Amino acid sequence: MPEFNAGAMENAGAVTIRDQYVFRSKVTDAAYETRAETILHELAHMWFGDLVTMEWWNDLWLNESFATYTSIACQAYAPGSKWPHSWTTFANSMKTWAYRQDQLPSTHPIMADIRDLDDVLVNFDGITYAKGASVLKQLVAYVGMDAFFQGVQEYFKAHAFGNTRLSDLLGALEKTSGRDLKTWSKKWLETAGINILRPEITLAADGTVASFHVRQEAPALPSGATGEPVLRPHRIAIGCYDLQDGKLVRTDRIELDVDGELTAVPFPAGTRRPDVVLLNDDDLSYAKVRLDEESLKVVTAHLGDFTESLPRALCWASAWDMTRDGELPTRDYLALVLSGIGKESDIGVVQSLHRQVKLALSMYAAPAWRETGMARWADAALEQLRAAAPGSDHQLAWARAFTAAARSGAHLDLVQGLLDGRETVQGLVIDTDLRWSLLGRLAATGRADEQAIAAELERDRTSAGEQHAASARAARPTAEAKAAAWAAVVEADTLPNAVQEAVIGGFQQYDQEELLAPYTAKYFAAVKGVWDTRSHEMASQIAIGLFPTLHISPETLETTDAWLASAEPSAALRRLVVESRAGVERALKARAADAAAG
Ligand SMILES: [Zn+2]
Repeated sequence: MPEFNAGAMENAGAVTIRDQYVFRSKVTDAAYETRAETILHELAHMWFGDLVTMEWWNDLWLNESFATYTSIACQAYAPGSKWPHSWTTFANSMKTWAYRQDQLPSTHPIMADIRDLDDVLVNFDGITYAKGASVLKQLVAYVGMDAFFQGVQEYFKAHAFGNTRLSDLLGALEKTSGRDLKTWSKKWLETAGINILRPEITLAADGTVASFHVRQEAPALPSGATGEPVLRPHRIAIGCYDLQDGKLVRTDRIELDVDGELTAVPFPAGTRRPDVVLLNDDDLSYAKVRLDEESLKVVTAHLGDFTESLPRALCWASAWDMTRDGELPTRDYLALVLSGIGKESDIGVVQSLHRQVKLALSMYAAPAWRETGMARWADAALEQLRAAAPGSDHQLAWARAFTAAARSGAHLDLVQGLLDGRETVQGLVIDTDLRWSLLGRLAATGRADEQAIAAELERDRTSAGEQHAASARAARPTAEAKAAAWAAVVEADTLPNAVQEAVIGGFQQYDQEELLAPYTAKYFAAVKGVWDTRSHEMASQIAIGLFPTLHISPETLETTDAWLASAEPSAALRRLVVESRAGVERALKARAADAAAG
């Protein structure tokens, strides 16, 4: 479906899928994996959603979490699957999304309180899809996989073509597993936030392990979030890893129930401590995990040396989480990524790291150091691009990362040369979509004008071409280009949704803060009127996409607070603005942490 504003929709007998999933240029295997996951997700809805439907929207997560969980489980376990490492992708994308959403002021229990249809629309969020699916994965670990699927089958037999609520599913699972799920459900589904798990290991005089505990902390709920911070029951695995011939190999795995504040780990007394102790190995539970000092030292030097992709993804995620929390300065995060990314074989993880480094450098780096960090990243990206195997997914991913990072004259000359065909990288095909990436970067840095954009559109007269051209025009670093983009989106109301999205994406450029500064006031003057007069889909693109996310200053917080106090926005609009405000607040903290490390 052209311009479909979701990934896909599970209409019984006529699943609709967005047109971007028909690939027209080379994409990496991560894109095929995502597309397969979407198809499986809609297929899963034939049961959860279509055959059995929730009674009311507060159980929406039952549809979405189940569809997400089973589609990834199918990729992981189906014989002959092309993506047996799909839990790595899950850890690295879905969970990161869930953790981010669950730390916003708007966080809510998975079982949401749904008052009206506005509530429903903003609730298709990271809690409903990603946290819900993570908690479902935890539920499977808690009751056991066989009991889980037996219970689900009973549930479908009993309720086919009917409506249900959560208790119907939990009742079926209690019967097949024999475990009490009332307390579990109360703690996991009716409360918000993420617990932190930390290992506490003491050594005896001879260097062997004297005691080993897991300490659980209640979620630090952001101000404005409702609910009580709780400790939860977690079914987790603990991975013990040792360095063997330069590789981090799992030498032991302990699975146990963690409950309450302190849980003793059955670790054989008198045994040497492993080089790395990884809590929540295999990613069974949903928790922020910290490494103890010894493990952190080894991981910092050897993150790329885990033989399996999932523990690497968990350590990458932990480092990213610490960066977002200001516990790891952005410059140290960049150093960690640079030391390990060259050994990362999982293309989805590599691409996530690209996005996270870009975000960290533009939002979380101390302004005084940012240029240095960006130059270092651009140099490294070019080095990786040149070193990647010709024609490989890694080569394509690094070509895109380098293009996005290019800032110096020499780097932008190379971008221009690749587009013109004067420069080549062996095996790298400059196809339609890659041409647009190159041109988009040249437009954003003032090297491609309207004529160049129009010429490119002439080569690619498709709806995707129209969107790329609109984005490139909005990205140009001139006051006129910004004014035209703003007028097209905010003042007129005539753009198709995909074009509007493209213009917004081009408008916000991290190295154009000065040009964008006047738009903070314009945003707050306009957003309520936009919200009240446009459809939910169009208005939320604008409310989220044009918020002054890149204007990271105490002044942005003050302006936002003044607007919140006086504008009387609807609950849904208030929520979107409060979420964006939290992003600026977090960036200010992370910048301070990075500056302190300088
Ligand atoms: Zn769905």
